[in-house]
Amino acid sequence: MAVQPYRHLLAAVDFSGGTESVAERAAELAQRYMARLSLVHVVEPTLLEYTGELALPENLDVERQMMDSAQERLDEMGDRLHVKGQDRHLLSGSPRAEIVRLANEADVDLIVVGSHGRHGLALLLGSTANAVLHHSPCDVVAVRIGGE
Ligand code: AMP
Repeated sequence: MAVQPYRHLLAAVDFSGGTESVAERAAELAQRYMARLSLVHVVEPTLLEYTGELALPENLDVERQMMDSAQERLDEMGDRLHVKGQDRHLLSGSPRAEIVRLANEADVDLIVVGSHGRHGLALLLGSTANAVLHHSPCDVVAVRIGGE
């Protein structure tokens, strides 16, 4: 069976140190395959939510501020990489679950992640990258983040 070229790439960006490498590699691959490029950033629930104090207005403010500042960064990146507004996904929840869910829903055929992000140990595949790799409906590229 002939191998099909990639048509829709999804770059998962956590805005930690290696994010630029992930974004640049995804953009380069998208260009090479003349494929659509989508970006996803997932805002994780704050610690306050885990303590069951979700309803407090100040917690909602913190949440909103995190979403607003993440949206700004996503838009800056999207503008720079010529990603359409509808393909910039700002989600909240568990990064691993949301990345895989979006890949399924948006018919993504290649997910690009960093080998680790904010939580990664230098020599190990980060837990998000690892989970995405195991549950992804499609191919996954893990971009090696500098310093390993
Ligand atoms: P980690 O497993 O957290 O070290 O992260 C590894 C990679 O998973 C990162 O380089 C990103 O590509 C992706 N990732 C982790 N957290 C997020 C997030 N909150 N939003 C989007 N992508 C993420």
